[in-house]
Amino acid sequence: MSAAPTAAAPASPSPTIAVKAKPVTTRPPNEAGLIPILEYHRITPKPSPYDRSAAQFRGDLERLYREGYRPIALQDLLDKKIDLPQGASPVVLTFDDADVSQFRYRPDGTIDPDCAVAILEEFSRKHADWPVRATFFVLPDSAFGPAKERTKKFRYLRETLGCEIGNHTVTHRSLRSLSDEAAQHEIGEAVQKIQAILPGTSVDTIALPMGISPKDRTLLAKGTFAGRAYSNKAVLLVGANPSPSPHSKEFAPLRLPRIQAVEGDSGITDWLNRLQKSESAYVSDGDPEKVTAPAS
Ligand SMILES: [Zn+2]
Repeated sequence: MSAAPTAAAPASPSPTIAVKAKPVTTRPPNEAGLIPILEYHRITPKPSPYDRSAAQFRGDLERLYREGYRPIALQDLLDKKIDLPQGASPVVLTFDDADVSQFRYRPDGTIDPDCAVAILEEFSRKHADWPVRATFFVLPDSAFGPAKERTKKFRYLRETLGCEIGNHTVTHRSLRSLSDEAAQHEIGEAVQKIQAILPGTSVDTIALPMGISPKDRTLLAKGTFAGRAYSNKAVLLVGANPSPSPHSKEFAPLRLPRIQAVEGDSGITDWLNRLQKSESAYVSDGDPEKVTAPAS
């Protein structure tokens, strides 16, 4: 945000004068409220019921912005570090399956303006208080199309945009159908493949294919494949609710519900309507050091 020019400019800048930002909404603080974690798949001109068109995705971002939502990183949710201005509500954006429609280069090497990454960047350029924050749960063998672009794309997501890369297993099979050993193979090998694409990538969150857990749920939090241990501090489900606040007793990082970015019951429009009407969403008090919740 740029300050308006003043009539008489001071001789030297006064960095100690902090201007209190205007509240994003007039809603009362509720830092025990609900937080939508949105789940996107493909961004495509002819969307199936599980996909979104570029226009729909832009519309989702506009609506979220208008209603006072601002994006936070999944890691910040897990770390309970929600630093938003007064009256703002956090939203977490997640993308599953790493379809090329999420991140595509055109033949001239520029990013396709209708892929998810370009739409996020475009929105952030237009709205200074909407940074690019998203987690991409990838299938490493097919992530974002052409193999030769994969390292560049992972690096761009992590290092240029500050996005996160999460685990979506190697083959997207139902983990419940697998032996304990095979389930650890799916999870642990995906981590190793992601780190082979971009060394140094920390992978400590997983989105369950189809939302299905392995028979032994403890293998989600930690396990071993090929002599290397993996661990996850968050497990993301498929449906169909907002997450409790990390300041609430109900917050369960190893079972984080998500809201699918689809129409219909419990989809994005339904849930944003419900949160708007019930005033049950998390609303920031503007002070990251303090947790403000209405007395219940
Ligand atoms: Zn998936």
